[in-house]
Amino acid sequence: MRGTRDLLPPETALWNRIEAVARSVFERYNFGEIRTPIFEDTALFARGVGEETDIVSKEMYTWEDRARAQSEKTQMLTLRPENTAGVVRAYIEHKLGESGQLQKLYYIGPQFRRERPQKGRYRQFSQIGAEVIGPPHAGSESPVRDAEVLEMLATLLDELGIGGWTLKINSVGSAQDRPKYIETLKAALAPVVGQMCGDCQRRAETNPLRVLDCKVAEDQPIIDGLPRIADSLDEASKAHFAAVCAALDASGVPYTHDHRLVRGLDYYTRTTFEFTHGGLGAQNALLGGGRYDGLSEAIGGPKAPGIGFAMGEDRLILTLQALEQAKAELAHAYIAPLGEGQNAAALKLARKLRRDGVRVELGDGSFRLKKSFEAADKVARAMVLLGEDEAQSGILTVKVFATGTQTKVAEAELVAFLTGLAG
Ligand code: ATP
Ligand code: MG
Repeated sequence: MRGTRDLLPPETALWNRIEAVARSVFERYNFGEIRTPIFEDTALFARGVGEETDIVSKEMYTWEDRARAQSEKTQMLTLRPENTAGVVRAYIEHKLGESGQLQKLYYIGPQFRRERPQKGRYRQFSQIGAEVIGPPHAGSESPVRDAEVLEMLATLLDELGIGGWTLKINSVGSAQDRPKYIETLKAALAPVVGQMCGDCQRRAETNPLRVLDCKVAEDQPIIDGLPRIADSLDEASKAHFAAVCAALDASGVPYTHDHRLVRGLDYYTRTTFEFTHGGLGAQNALLGGGRYDGLSEAIGGPKAPGIGFAMGEDRLILTLQALEQAKAELAHAYIAPLGEGQNAAALKLARKLRRDGVRVELGDGSFRLKKSFEAADKVARAMVLLGEDEAQSGILTVKVFATGTQTKVAEAELVAFLTGLAG
């Protein structure tokens, strides 16, 4: 069926490995697992996610569930398009807030959206997500929670072996800031929206924040000229965001402040974030999340600020497979002659190694060391340095990129050493 897939071995082993790593990280951060139903009352998503969002307005699988007995009533049900609304519904239903403790919950499971299927975008897909939610007196609004969730995600991606991710964060302000900004944005859009794409013209009416998400090239200069949400935040929201950034700086998690990151769900307030990866192409978001301080109240619960994220498991798999593939394509070694005088010796060494089945990329002595280094890192697993000392002694210096270590290897052992390097 369109947008669905069967997962077969050996790929299922990769899914299991990812889930095992995620569970072990969640456990270390003291999260517990929650499993909510795969379908819920349609009204939960309409109120929780927001009527005007893409998800609710066009992507949900909804049907009328007819009453089978007098005691039942016919109701509208929906396959869950995301899991945060379900978690918050469960939080309210089981009165988890009454414990006075922060609830730290994670989930792993299928979600359903009727989207146009393409690489990394399916109609049934799996998310790994987590939520930190509780009454304000339990510390649920603290910027420390935001920073802790982001630091946990950096750890999780690193432990999964997904190097090279980018973290973008922003603040979309409190429930009071947002309407103010939306008015400012509407006013700024009015004179220019006629020149924008059809989607933007629609969004300007229904959900102006989403204009900032537009990817159409011609619209970009117009969007860059629109007022920034950062300038509409009140002092408390500004201070909250500054504290999140300071905590991230202190923990050493790299990030960039993206003024246009607003995310597609209505429930977000203050911190929003996204982790992306270059290996994914157009669907480059690995995960997204943010704060939802008003969500519980919006669906009839007590005040329960929270923050969470949802990670696309399918996209994690695609990223890991792409990284594996790139590694498999690397040469064993890049030979870097240190100076023009070593070019001949380097060619001789390359010839010898290649005849022994080693995949070799050959540099030349006009390169500066730093430049050779950068070139080598992209195409090979290791770099063999060939200077005058090495040529004379027959003991070569080998830098292994995966570990960052530098080792002395005798020429006679070089073939075994290089071909033994893991991808
Ligand atoms: P996108 O901009 O890619 O449509 P989104 O803003 O709709 O993402 P969220 O609702 O925040 O995404 O979901 C969080 C994550 O779930 C996304 O970052 C992505 O990795 C994954 N995801 C969302 N929709 C799909 C889908 N149809 N197929 C596969 N993964 C998805
Ligand atoms: Mg989407």
